Amino acid sequence: MDCCGHHALTRRHWMWGTVLASLGAMLGASAGRDAAAAQSADDAAAARDVLRRFISVDVHSHGGTTGIISMAAPNDDLATGMRAGSLAVACLADVPDGPVLGRNAAGVLGATRTPGPGELYKYHLNRLAWMDEMVARHGLRRVHTAAELEAAHAAGQPAIVADVEGLDFLERKLERLEEAHQRGVRHVQLVHYTPNDIGDYQTGAVTHDGLTSFGAEAIQACHKLGLVCDVAHATEDTVKQAVKVATKPLLLSHTAIADSKAMGPTPLRGRQVSRDHARAIAETGGSIGIWHFFPSLDKYVDGLKEMVDVVGVDHVSIGTDQQIARGSVQTYDQWAQLVAAMLRGGFTPDEAGKIAGGNYLRIFRSAVG
Ligand SMILES: [Zn+2]
Ligand SMILES: [Zn+2]
Repeated sequence: MDCCGHHALTRRHWMWGTVLASLGAMLGASAGRDAAAAQSADDAAAARDVLRRFISVDVHSHGGTTGIISMAAPNDDLATGMRAGSLAVACLADVPDGPVLGRNAAGVLGATRTPGPGELYKYHLNRLAWMDEMVARHGLRRVHTAAELEAAHAAGQPAIVADVEGLDFLERKLERLEEAHQRGVRHVQLVHYTPNDIGDYQTGAVTHDGLTSFGAEAIQACHKLGLVCDVAHATEDTVKQAVKVATKPLLLSHTAIADSKAMGPTPLRGRQVSRDHARAIAETGGSIGIWHFFPSLDKYVDGLKEMVDVVGVDHVSIGTDQQIARGSVQTYDQWAQLVAAMLRGGFTPDEAGKIAGGNYLRIFRSAVG
């Protein structure tokens, strides 16, 4: 699972990063400032080089403050930000249960009412139409195959993978999954914040003891159609049962390790995952995306390292979840700075390339073709 002892290797890099930071602190103030400026120019150049050599993918996004969950009309903001930060691909997620979501007193999202029959399906179709308009008029291409992903990166054209966060629109009708695929969707998440017939989710009451038999059928349908199967938000039991059913790598697109020191105390604790939960995903050949809810880019990198220390560098990705709440990658023009922070934090260019996109490309190629 942890291919070729990455743990020892990556830990050594972290140590070197610390030594370099201490040396920097020992330099005189003005010399330190000059050195810091030169260093930051070097970091930026190194990050751009990584982003040229390796495809980069935000494995879970809503496209920023004017994105798909906002009330904004389709617009150029996403493509403009991606170009500025050299992000190749965003998995742009429609949120079918959006109309029933709200925050409780602690600021935690949840369903506030039971949706009416067909209500979430109708809203999901409306959001797919919004996505069509983004692709038709606002500088993004939608990719359907691994070859198209790589071609978009090679051409320097920002691309989206059409993604759906929660199969709450299915209402037990798998033909709606097929319809989503026909509409260009290539990535779906099984559960979100609304009780459904698929399985239990982390922030809700346990009602199914994990994955249902319909949930197992939905995973098999994902494999058959060619959809990345994302188990973010699912309980550990649901995930472990999904791992038994899955014959392709699974993605868990946005989370952090349980009790993450890099995040600190957070109302999102119920959405973090245990070490066993993370290892179950890695065992499928999959990857765990780390969201951007950290106080700084350097802390974000610490959050990536926390997960790498558990599952290895081949099983960690970046899934910002922007812009569900403020985080350390507010807009995509910061993407290159995130990669620079990864290099500064001790990741090699190859490791940064895997986390920034290579691991997702592997999963996408296996699931979608
Ligand atoms: Zn989410
Ligand atoms: Zn999300």
